[in-house]
Amino acid sequence: MSDWTNVIQAATIHDPLSGAVNTPIQLSSTFNQTDFDHFGHFDYARSGNPTRESGEKAVAALEHGKYGYLFSTGMAAISSVLFTLSAGDDIVVSKHVYGGTFRILSDILPRWGITHTLVDFGDLDAVKAAIKPETKALYIETPSNPVLKITDIRAIVAIAKDNDLITIADNTFLSPFLQNPLDLGVDIVVHSATKFLAGHSDILAGAVVTNNSDLADKIYFIQNAVGATLGVLDTWLLLRGIKTLGVRMTQSSQSAQKIAQYLEGHDKVARVLYPGLATHEGYTIHQSQSKSGGAVLSFDVGSADNAKVVVEALTIPIFSVSLGAVETIISYPPKMSHAELNVEELKDTGITPGLLRFSVGLEDVNDLIADLEQALALI
Ligand SMILES: *Cc1c(COP(=O)(O)O)cnc(C)c1O
Repeated sequence: MSDWTNVIQAATIHDPLSGAVNTPIQLSSTFNQTDFDHFGHFDYARSGNPTRESGEKAVAALEHGKYGYLFSTGMAAISSVLFTLSAGDDIVVSKHVYGGTFRILSDILPRWGITHTLVDFGDLDAVKAAIKPETKALYIETPSNPVLKITDIRAIVAIAKDNDLITIADNTFLSPFLQNPLDLGVDIVVHSATKFLAGHSDILAGAVVTNNSDLADKIYFIQNAVGATLGVLDTWLLLRGIKTLGVRMTQSSQSAQKIAQYLEGHDKVARVLYPGLATHEGYTIHQSQSKSGGAVLSFDVGSADNAKVVVEALTIPIFSVSLGAVETIISYPPKMSHAELNVEELKDTGITPGLLRFSVGLEDVNDLIADLEQALALI
């Protein structure tokens, strides 16, 4: 079945009782049991509820997985996956990992005896060299934030299988409409569903999907035990957002491709980072594992002063953190998502002082280019 059909079928789960086309919002924390000895499928809503279950089936179907879990935020989802590790375990992580994930790995897990090793996942020999007897998993994010580095998913999976490790992939940047890591052998996919899946800058949500029943049992155990679950109202909004995932991703990534090409030819722009450009270092690998370059690009206008001029002159995009919404969002990573990094760390991860991240929404691409044109003319 085509991904387009899959998106609509996955997100449109009819109510078996009434025939209502949309999943009902079941505001119940507990469920009446009719048999003293045998309890029903639902008992207490932290353990499971019909609305969240519909959302979980939807994200699982989108990622071509059997088991899906929804969490209150992307960080709750990622933390719950990391909580499957135990004292003495190590995890090898891309050094371009999302800042919130880095914070859990560096400030919380070491207190519980779980360590991590940061590696440039573009260097496969370095990944192999980082694997120790206590390594349990490889953690990737492709394209990465905000420099859009590409990791070869198949190659990392092969290294993991050789070493009896599991692979975890954060697939937030492309959404399941453009990339399906489970199909390439990844064991666990995580999402900030706050971004493209929900798509409207309205809710916070996180998702985990796997095909492995042992891993699914462990993640469900943690979801139920810790309780960072997605509420029913937010689940409904997530399902509503997912229905248009196909059209949003297609339109926004077409626009992003045009904007990247426009910026690449602009003399005020020092560098454009977008995996849909043939000049991008990860272009060939990206083409082999994804449907398009996606809706996020970054570009360098040479200096922090220039970045300020451009941001202040733009009239269409909102200036904020976050990405993956119907409105175009421009961010300044050195002061926003990566504010915790020092000058050395920023340099090491390629986050130069003039770098701006652009998450393309659904506005007319010609309007966005005209807006960039007038803003860039000022520097
Ligand atoms: C936003 C984001 C997260 C964290 O998700 P929240 O929903 O904000 O908790 C994780 N990974 C990536 C790549 C993100 O962009």
